[in-house]
Amino acid sequence: MYKNLAVFLDRDGTINKDTGYIDSPGRLIIIDGVSSAIKRLNSNGFKVVVITNQSGVARGYFSKEALDIVNKRLEHILKKKRAHIDGIYYCPHHPDDNCECRKPKIGLLEQAKKDLNIDFKKSYVVGDKVSDVEIAQGIGGKGILVLTGMGRDEEKKLNHKPSYIAHDLKDAVEWIIKDSLKS
Ligand SMILES: [Mg+2]
Ligand SMILES: [Zn+2]
Repeated sequence: MYKNLAVFLDRDGTINKDTGYIDSPGRLIIIDGVSSAIKRLNSNGFKVVVITNQSGVARGYFSKEALDIVNKRLEHILKKKRAHIDGIYYCPHHPDDNCECRKPKIGLLEQAKKDLNIDFKKSYVVGDKVSDVEIAQGIGGKGILVLTGMGRDEEKKLNHKPSYIAHDLKDAVEWIIKDSLKS
């Protein structure tokens, strides 16, 4: 029933604390409750896909290699808690590059859809920014704003109401699981 459902998760401010441009694994601090929340998604049959804007690459703050090390470390930390991520996709471009992958554009999600055979309309997008919520509209799925990271400031900038506003990822995941049982 859940086979092609995905939960797209933003990284900074949603999974880990937004400590600025994260150029090394030492700056990676996982938000409380995140690994058990991801585990809950795993055991309920959702694919868990991380989608993240990392313009720090285009800005020259860190290399793609450094970013890969940070992402590998993130997967490793979660894996130790038995939480699994099905894919991590990032946009390395500058906002001025006008690429097709920087959120709120849906290029990263299109790629994941191809790789993992995801049904957009039954999927969810969770993040701490308006751009994350807008992506959900772009794919016809449901968007959830989390109030961790920049969430509290971003909440004031919302043009459209998200499907849900969650305290944190743990709260978002509980809502998603209940919501998915309704349809
Ligand atoms: Mg974020
Ligand atoms: Zn891009």
